[in-house]
Amino acid sequence: MQLVTGNWKMNGLKSSLKEIESLVSGLRGRTRLPEILVCPPATLLQSLGPVIQGSPIKLGGQACHAKESGAHTGDISADMLKDAGASYVIVGHSERRTDHKETSSDVAAQAAAARRAGLSAIVCIGESEAQKNEGGTEQILAQQIQASVTADSLTPETAFAYEPIWAIGTGKTASLNDIDRTHSFIRARLEERFGLPGKTVRLLYGGSVKPSNAREILNLTSVDGVLVGGASLKADEFLAIIEGSRG
Ligand code: PEP
Repeated sequence: MQLVTGNWKMNGLKSSLKEIESLVSGLRGRTRLPEILVCPPATLLQSLGPVIQGSPIKLGGQACHAKESGAHTGDISADMLKDAGASYVIVGHSERRTDHKETSSDVAAQAAAARRAGLSAIVCIGESEAQKNEGGTEQILAQQIQASVTADSLTPETAFAYEPIWAIGTGKTASLNDIDRTHSFIRARLEERFGLPGKTVRLLYGGSVKPSNAREILNLTSVDGVLVGGASLKADEFLAIIEGSRG
């Protein structure tokens, strides 16, 4: 089943719960749905519980600390996310790698913490514009796959998200050919690294996915879902993206 994930980033107040209420009513009665995940800011997780109850929507965190608890002011643990109703957590988002200097080995420790807490990780990988222009995309992706998660952190629901950094929030999307070629490369590396789980782990695309391009991206056989930032904030846009899924 495809996985359509919304990453709200640092957006959303209690007033944004109405977007999820609209999403829940827009989904009512629909069949052939993909798995649907919303990753709001952690402050909204608990209040979203009653809103999504009985709907197909699941909740996720946007990041977690590698430790279970302790003196880490401002951080949030995987156990806390789980306790607040999450079943997934995004790790290694490029904004975390840049803003918080998180390395692939930090990401691997966070993915392990997620697994211990009973969460499935969505592990983000992707090249910068400069790396792409230097022809370094495959090398950076191979390194990130090697170092950003260990085999014992995988669950049947774990997903990898290929997010070219130059496509995030820019309105630029990788071409269908590039997505397909890069996903095939990533899939081969995942199989090399993880064996059978590397064949079945879901591989999402992220980077300026919107209603106008979602269907063609989700129609690629190499794409098992999408990770959506900006367009996940509005129920009607996110719903239109969900409708583009193969289910
Ligand atoms: C993201 O935040 O992971 C993302 C892909 O953002 P956007 O859809 O806004 O490019």
